[in-house]
Amino acid sequence: MDIVENYKKFLAEGKTERECVSQIIQLAEKNGYKNIDNADSLHPGEKVYVCKRNKSIALFHIGTGSIEDGMNILGAHIDSPRLDVKQNPLYEKDFIVYLNTHYYGGIKKYQWVALPLALHGVVCLKDGSTVRISIGEKPEDPVFCISDILPHLAQKQMKEIASEFISGENLDVICGSTLPLPENSENKEKNKAKKAVLDILKESYGIEEKDFYSAEFEVVPAGEPRDLGFDRSLILAYGQDDRSCAYTSAQAMMDVQTASRTMCCICVDKEEIGSYGATGMGSHFMENAVAEVVARLGAYSELSVRRCLNNSCMLSSDVNSAYDPLNSDLFDKDNASFLGGGLVFQKYTGSRGKSGASDADPEFIAKLRNILDAGNVAYQFAELGKVDQGGGGTIAHLAAKYGMYVIDAGVAVLAMHAPWEITSKEDIRQAYKGYKLFLEMS
Ligand code: MN
Ligand code: MN
Repeated sequence: MDIVENYKKFLAEGKTERECVSQIIQLAEKNGYKNIDNADSLHPGEKVYVCKRNKSIALFHIGTGSIEDGMNILGAHIDSPRLDVKQNPLYEKDFIVYLNTHYYGGIKKYQWVALPLALHGVVCLKDGSTVRISIGEKPEDPVFCISDILPHLAQKQMKEIASEFISGENLDVICGSTLPLPENSENKEKNKAKKAVLDILKESYGIEEKDFYSAEFEVVPAGEPRDLGFDRSLILAYGQDDRSCAYTSAQAMMDVQTASRTMCCICVDKEEIGSYGATGMGSHFMENAVAEVVARLGAYSELSVRRCLNNSCMLSSDVNSAYDPLNSDLFDKDNASFLGGGLVFQKYTGSRGKSGASDADPEFIAKLRNILDAGNVAYQFAELGKVDQGGGGTIAHLAAKYGMYVIDAGVAVLAMHAPWEITSKEDIRQAYKGYKLFLEMS
């Protein structure tokens, strides 16, 4: 199957970081990777993965050279903007039952109303078991939705500024309803519909209201990726930032031959909220994983781990904003990335005077140009947008602190962070090709 069709399947089945990790583990095990916990020692050609809390994963393919000479690393993130369900989420108001949410990552709140939503997540029960839930993806499933004001009554709303006319607190998801009973009815019961929803949760999943305390539910757009356009050249799908790069990076790891340098692909959580937490790139996850690998190669020392990281090269596989012809004033066209233009390199991110940027070294960039040109990979160099129009960051600066060479390299995305994001199929192919060549780089 074409990489594009596999990518669409990955997106359809990977709407949360946990679902992406479990798919990457499946893919890796099918390709000869084993859990590092089951490997006492490692030798050239062997392949292992390290998983952190089911939300981040690192894959290693051991090279024939010394680990102290460094690795070729692809680093992507597998979290995407969404709505997280709060810990006390369920309430009924005037005959409608809602799930209260708190948004995650940079979203335009008004984009999340009036469209079908799905609920994905886990509920951890006191007995130690975990219930996995996905509702809203199968055609026969119910979906969820946030309502918006009808235009007829929106005079006041339409005058407000876009960041405020849908408030974060009101991004609550409809999940049930009841018929209003006559005022004088004797059997008028408070929270009747909420009780009905709780009965369904109990019956279908064995969950009680207090179990939301130890649950992690993510509300995401419902539905599968679709081909976009008469010519089917584009993909419309949720979560392409950054799963377009995570999938192509992981797939590239599956298809490489053992090389001199050890190859690594790390897919992390929490990038969209600043890479914090034990599963984010700001944690010690990567160096701990590398230490486990170095130990199994038989010559562990802190210095070996430091040398390995310091001598590594990394592509921070993250997306860039695609040039938008209808909003061309936001872009410096000569320094913008285009849908279908191939793998996008971004020398630095940040905002204003490059604040917060990890500025990539031209020595490293020259080396990359050389292998990509030799391998006929299409690529482009771009910035996010015009100077002083805004900005953003990736995980590049967190890898750079080890002293390794790193540059952002990914897929161009139109309508980034929208519930439905747009990429070009050709860019998915070029990213995969480029990542594979980089991994095998000597
Ligand atoms: Mn990203
Ligand atoms: Mn993002």
